[in-house]
Amino acid sequence: MRKSEIKELQDEPACEHNKKSKSGCAPATPGATAGGCCFDGAQITLLPITDVAHIVHGPVGCAGSSWDKRGTQSSGPELFRLGFTTDLNEQDVIMGRGEKRLYHSILQAAKKHSPEAIFVYNTCVPAMEGDDIEAVCRMAQLKITPPVIAIDAAGFYGNKNLGNRIAGELMVDKVVGTATPAPKPEFSGGKIHDIALVGEYNIAGELWHILPLLDKLGLRVLANLSGDCRFKELQTMHHAEALMLVCSRAQINVARKLEQKYQIPWFEGSFYGIRDICDALRQFATLIDDPDLTQRTELLIAQELAWLDLELAPYREQLQGKKALLYTGGVKSWSIVSALQDLGMKVVASGTRKSTEEDKARIRELMGADAILLDETSPRNLLDVAYQYKADVMIAGGRNMYTAYKARMPFVEVNQEREHAFAGFKGMVTLAQQLCLTLESPVWQQARSAVPWQ
Ligand code: SF4
Repeated sequence: MRKSEIKELQDEPACEHNKKSKSGCAPATPGATAGGCCFDGAQITLLPITDVAHIVHGPVGCAGSSWDKRGTQSSGPELFRLGFTTDLNEQDVIMGRGEKRLYHSILQAAKKHSPEAIFVYNTCVPAMEGDDIEAVCRMAQLKITPPVIAIDAAGFYGNKNLGNRIAGELMVDKVVGTATPAPKPEFSGGKIHDIALVGEYNIAGELWHILPLLDKLGLRVLANLSGDCRFKELQTMHHAEALMLVCSRAQINVARKLEQKYQIPWFEGSFYGIRDICDALRQFATLIDDPDLTQRTELLIAQELAWLDLELAPYREQLQGKKALLYTGGVKSWSIVSALQDLGMKVVASGTRKSTEEDKARIRELMGADAILLDETSPRNLLDVAYQYKADVMIAGGRNMYTAYKARMPFVEVNQEREHAFAGFKGMVTLAQQLCLTLESPVWQQARSAVPWQ
């Protein structure tokens, strides 16, 4: 990838955060890739495309540190779960055998696994060596049918967000627009409309809480970049009538480019929390501008809310007034706040790592002007805030789990390693269940009581 291309991606005009920073978004700081390198970001974005062979060109450690660490799920092909790597070692580097190994890896993957496409990820070592992965992909393409696409997002190019953007941009340039979708199926409720999602990774199967709602409305998801996605679906994404950017500003460039190239209107939304789910469904109806769809949407929302009220009633009783310390980041910093408030809980503080100024503004809107925003903080500070505001439960990512447990504090995991799907109306019930289970667990009373030998 050329420096000018990287600079362009770092200077995303649709990103408010970027507009305020002179240096542009996501500047690359060599050696400072903690929290995910550029390659990792590209893999996070594309690995959930389930019928593609994802080959990591580099030392085995690169593939090992990024492979399958997010709980993204598939309803069909499981090819994406196989870790393919060229496994470069010192001898390969000294002898300059990287390109040759890659060429044979592509042919082998095509022969043994018959993938719909092959993605080749560049990493630091071959990028520094100067391996021309684009040329190798072109050479291999002459021998095999499935498209071979080079994902040139080596670790040192920048941080994880940049990797997300490079991967998204490559999909828009090389994949979207290369096929037409299947004819629309019959729908008894009215006209079917095609839509697309960007940034929903189907972690713990969250997409499967959303699809039934969209089906009932007659909204066909042509493609989702990239949870439970098939390569062919992605090729047809340009036919979407509206697009939702789901909790992922890192891929805002994809939404902007699809609007520029194919005039697809888009909005940013979330499927966490009752208000946000309703908003998202209404936004589709507004963008598509079909009065019939608007009517169907209002009807569905009314039915779902009636069902949800009954389901949540016993949990709301238990959760009413309970205090939560939320330490996540990005869009989740406000979308989970809204979900917790919908359950009757009080959020005493919210983490704002990787959150934009707009995300922070939304937190203040939800929690009030004097909301406590926690940027990058230590476990000690996190606990101090929890004690000071008498939080009943900590809701955060896996790396904070032991901070909470050591302090004998109930904990619910909400980041990418989570095992439960919290999106959609069904997800609200799951969230309420998980909160009640941890808060009511008898283990806390035992753990907090004096040890028998004292
Ligand atoms: S691509 Fe580079 S920064 Fe990323 S895991 Fe591999 S060596 Fe590390």
